[in-house]
Amino acid sequence: MPGTLYQDALSHLDQAARFAAVEEETLYRLRYPQSTLAFSIPVRMDNGKLEIYQAYRVRHNDSRGPTKGGIRFHPNVSLDEIRALAFWMTLKCALVGIPFGGAKGGVIVNPKLLSRLEVERLSRGFIEQVVDFIGPHTDIPAPDVYTNEMIMGWMMDEYSKIVRRHSPGVITGKPISMGGSLGRNDATGRGAYYCIKELEKKNQWNPKEIRVAVQGFGNAGQHVADLLHRDGYRIVAVSDSKGGIYSNDGFDVPSLVRMKHETHEVQAVYCEGTVCNVVPAKQISNDELLALDVDILIPAALENVIRVDNVETIKAPIIIEVANGPISSKADQILTDKNVLVVPDILANAGGVTVSYFEWVQNKNGYYWGLDEVHEKLYRIMVREFNTVFDIMKKNDINMRTAAYSHALNRLGEAIHAQGTQSYFAANV
Ligand code: NAD
Repeated sequence: MPGTLYQDALSHLDQAARFAAVEEETLYRLRYPQSTLAFSIPVRMDNGKLEIYQAYRVRHNDSRGPTKGGIRFHPNVSLDEIRALAFWMTLKCALVGIPFGGAKGGVIVNPKLLSRLEVERLSRGFIEQVVDFIGPHTDIPAPDVYTNEMIMGWMMDEYSKIVRRHSPGVITGKPISMGGSLGRNDATGRGAYYCIKELEKKNQWNPKEIRVAVQGFGNAGQHVADLLHRDGYRIVAVSDSKGGIYSNDGFDVPSLVRMKHETHEVQAVYCEGTVCNVVPAKQISNDELLALDVDILIPAALENVIRVDNVETIKAPIIIEVANGPISSKADQILTDKNVLVVPDILANAGGVTVSYFEWVQNKNGYYWGLDEVHEKLYRIMVREFNTVFDIMKKNDINMRTAAYSHALNRLGEAIHAQGTQSYFAANV
């Protein structure tokens, strides 16, 4: 039985369906993940001991194309979480109009406790177990929390060795030298940045007056903070798993990023360094960061960080969901009632999967694009879909999440209806 996060994620479907031209059958299909693989990965540790790690890969729905979604290494991974993340991928790919369905994978592990060689063995072991489940035309993984381009490279290499064919299209987010795309690294943050730039135009903001707080200073959080900072926005708070920092004047983001990466260099494949001790600033907790009186709040860490028990502390009038599922459905309703504008995850963080799609297209063709071409294509898609969703929101007087879901549902409905639903088949009986 699906657990609570998945059910919470599904709860938005019915609401959105009222504004979409889909038959009940489409919703019925989307409530059930297509296939679920639960498996274990034996890893020989450096000290000779054998450890077994529990892992999952869920393919949610492939009506619009091969399934696509990241692999997460985190101690809190659960099947329920992976199902929810796979469901959001189905909607996200439909929302931006790329020909993929949704999937997600995860391993229950704290990778910060593993050596580099142990992480490599775990990554290759993951592929060994899912090799019959994934492929360039079936299911295409990518990075997510605590996985990175080096891990994607190991995984692609392992897959290619097993099938005895060079297969760059099996995975995205690879190193450039192994068939990765220029512009993939910052694509998630950049997509969110393009959404904020559209809001800037609509609201005629002066970036220097806009204070931004970013929870989660990893791949996605760092890039959106950096791009906004370059345009003059004041990044007044950032945090990672160990805590946060606050400066009313705003941070020099490139030096924060540099320091975080330098710490990373001397640690493992993972960034164990915390942003807390790299610049003189007031230290704050993650809860305090969420409650700051800022103009834009960007949750960019994990899901379910804004819940019924802390939603009343939120003061930001605008939330950009760079993380997947950072707001529970009940908290979301409370924010809507308070007129907080939430740019939903399936739109705000869709830049990552969009450039993953570009990477896959380049891998299939064996012809690689320049950075400007990637940026221009990403910009066009993000701006088009942001404004479509914004207009649906205004036209129907609904929140942006419902608008985004209804837009995605229309595209999914077209693909599902194209194969015939009850109304088609019953008419001929
Ligand atoms: P990452 O591993 O690069 O970074 C995660 C960051 O979150 C780290 O800085 C970590 O310290 C921090 N963190 C972890 N637990 C935390 C906590 N309890 N409080 C505050 N910070 C915490 O991961 P990422 O790729 O940047 O992914 C972040 C979010 O963005 C996830 O929800 C992911 O699903 C989503 N996302 C990522 C991509 C992508 O392309 N990387 C694409 C779409 C969505």
